[in-house]
Amino acid sequence: MHYHSFIIGGGIAGTVLALTMRDRGYSVKILDHRSGNSCSNVAAGLMNPITGKRQTLSWRSEDFFPKAIDFYRRYAPENGQNAFRELPIHRILSSVAEQNRWSTADHPDRFKLFIEDQALSSLPSDRYHNALGTLVVKSGGKLDMKAFLKHAHQLLLNDLAYEEVDQAIDITPNSMYAYQNDQADHLIHAEGWNHADLWNFLPFTPMKGEILTLQSDHLDTDKIVIGSCFIAPETDQTFRVGATYDWRSINTTKTGEAREALIQRFQKMTDVPFEVIDHQVGIRPAVSDRRPLIGKHPNHNNLFLFNGMGSKGASMTPLLAEWFIDFMEGQALPDEVNLNRFIS
Ligand SMILES: Cc1cc2nc3c(=O)[nH]c(=O)nc-3n(C[C@H](O)[C@H](O)[C@H](O)COP(=O)(O)OP(=O)(O)OC[C@H]3O[C@@H](n4cnc5c(N)ncnc54)[C@H](O)[C@@H]3O)c2cc1C
Repeated sequence: MHYHSFIIGGGIAGTVLALTMRDRGYSVKILDHRSGNSCSNVAAGLMNPITGKRQTLSWRSEDFFPKAIDFYRRYAPENGQNAFRELPIHRILSSVAEQNRWSTADHPDRFKLFIEDQALSSLPSDRYHNALGTLVVKSGGKLDMKAFLKHAHQLLLNDLAYEEVDQAIDITPNSMYAYQNDQADHLIHAEGWNHADLWNFLPFTPMKGEILTLQSDHLDTDKIVIGSCFIAPETDQTFRVGATYDWRSINTTKTGEAREALIQRFQKMTDVPFEVIDHQVGIRPAVSDRRPLIGKHPNHNNLFLFNGMGSKGASMTPLLAEWFIDFMEGQALPDEVNLNRFIS
């Protein structure tokens, strides 16, 4: 079969891109060497617009979030597993200064999508340590990436638009691409942190992350709670708790150190009984300036990159996919995401 594009890699990046390209009339095929440690299979899938100790609006949230929510409402509920849930996010306040900052109804306009005028609340003190209350953030949520990808891959497979390959694909740049009996005019690399050597000139800074799944009967399943770590409901009794950031040892080894650190952070937020039922590790495809890496290879006209989602693959990918297709059609990419920013 002849396709417009092959996409190498079927994590959240390659999969959302494939679905979006098909929506816009392009024939694509994902070639995916699924490793147990695809970052997307490990991610908590939080879509959280207000981040960091200083509680700032993360980069372009007001653009990324509406698009992402619209996209996942369309594609994620179909699997019947609630792969995407819009959930309020309660950020536990840690100082009176923070309380004062958010108690005013006069938030900058950029925050309006995410913060109500009266945004302060509190959680039951028998379950959560939140003496100063919480800031409630809306228009975020959680994507169960593993469930979403399983569903999306099946959908694509039915249309011959997905193939699980048994080894990593390495295709030499050419005027046309061939894989077994298929051909494509373009090749798009969406391989996550383990990218092809062709892109070695770009400043990827992979970031290891570890995350726990806990079982508990005592935590709220209708909200995400963020304090010294995040506690995000997965099922009625299971919660994802994470995550660590380690840029020094890039490997997929689970460490006792990370497990203990996450348990300690969890216990700063709550005293409820729990059991650790899973511990996972993944490598985030991060970039030195913390922005995605999208665009065309400087030496090959039909070779593209869709990568660098860092720790925000769930929220950023749907809009980035639209920008990427606009770019293939001849429009300019925003400078901040164009890989050209690293080519002098
Ligand atoms: C612990 C942890 C928690 C996280 N939590 C969140 C979160 O709450 N919210 C959020 O938005 N993000 C989170 N992330 C980040 C998120 O996982 C990434 O942003 C996202 O998954 C990256 O997706 P990707 O498709 O680029 O890469 P990947 O998911 O790694 O997918 C790449 C795919 O390409 C395949 N592949 C690679 N090379 C080849 C090849 N040569 N041939 C064929 N196939 C190939 C891989 O096997 C894989 O299937 C978290 C990450 C970690 C580690």
